[in-house]
This record gives sequence, C-alpha cells and structure tokens, in this order.
Amino acid sequence: MNIILIGPPGAGKGTQAETLVKGRNMVQLSTGDMLRAARTSGTEMGNMVAGVMDRGELVTDEIVIGLIEEQLTTADAAGGFIFDGFPRTLAQADALSDLLEKVGQKLDTVIQLEVNDEILVDRIVGRAAEAVAAGKEARADDNAESLKIRLMAYYKDTSPLIGYYYAKGQLQQVDGLGTIDGVGADIADALGKVG
Ligand code: AMP
Repeated sequence: MNIILIGPPGAGKGTQAETLVKGRNMVQLSTGDMLRAARTSGTEMGNMVAGVMDRGELVTDEIVIGLIEEQLTTADAAGGFIFDGFPRTLAQADALSDLLEKVGQKLDTVIQLEVNDEILVDRIVGRAAEAVAAGKEARADDNAESLKIRLMAYYKDTSPLIGYYYAKGQLQQVDGLGTIDGVGADIADALGKVG
C-alpha cells in the first residue's frame, strides 16, 4: 500500500511514519530527512538548500521530485511507500502520480493529520527543548521565526492538496491530537478501509 501523510509541521507525520515502518514493513520516504542528510554529507545540493530550509521556506519542486524519483526507482517497495512531507505543492502531487505510474504503482490513500496551530507551536518548541535536554542539536528550523514561515508555506502551498485529494476521493482525515498510539490506531482503521 502506498500512502501520503499530510499535515502541518509538528502534526506527527514522522512519528506515525516510524510506527508504520516497524509494524507494516513499509518504506518511509521523507524529503525533509533526505535534504537534511544531503546537508550533513555536504553535497552541492545540500549546501544549496541549507539557507532555504533554515528560513522555513520550500526548496524547489525540481529538487524534491528528483529525490523521490531516485528512491522510487531504486528502493524495494516492501510493504509500500509512506510519503512523509512530500508532496507539498500541486506540481509535486502531479509529479508523484506520474512517477508512481512509471514504476507500476498507485497511490492508495492520503491521510491528513489534523492538529490545531497553537498545539503545533507548543509541540515544535517542545521538540527543540527535548533535543537540547538530550544533548542533541535542535533542528535549525525548529524556532518561532522559521515555524511561522513553515506554517505559512503549509497553508499557502500544501493545504490546497487536501481539497485536491478529497476531490479525487483519496482523502481520509485523522485527528492528530491524541496519544501516539491513539492516532496510530486511527490511522490503522483508515488504512483498513482501503487495504
Ligand atoms: P520537514 O522535515 O518535512 O519538515 O522538512 C524540512 C524542510 O525541508 C522544509 O521546511 C523545506 O524547507 C524542506 N522540504 C522538505 N520536503 C519538502 C518538499 N516536499 N518540498 C519543498 N521543500 C521541502
């Protein structure tokens, strides 16, 4: 099964993707993780996107579509793909549907994690504080200024995808406010409806 997890920053996409990877042998494709890895290894592309990411803006469609294409054509689909943080624009959504077709796959469902904005801010500020407490470096974009820009990018560029997938009959909404296990159970129910 191939699914998209969609929701604003801090909605829990990465956390829920991890559960799906462990429980269902799915492969998580997070463009955010891929871009952070490119930065850490200091590739030309990584250096190019660093400033954009730290400000909380979106990197170009071309870059992220290229990253996803590379994974789709090389990774073993196992229990299917979880697209986490991709697509974030309508152009990316169209590219994904073309790429899936090219590799003989299809999109099964889109899960929207619904969380209210004030809770997001608390979660993200909390995530930064937890990282520091654990002696790790907080994500450079987990600060109030970048978060504002990330939220704006979400509402401006990504939230139209919700209407788009709804119109295609592929959208399922899950309340992202519960416990990790509670939200996980709701996602499992949603997947049961298509699987
Ligand atoms: P994330 O870990 O998904 O929150 O992504 C972190 C940052 O990486 C975002 O704020 C963007 O700068 C960039 N990014 C990740 N995925 C995408 C995407 N699909 N399109 C454009 N930019 C992205």
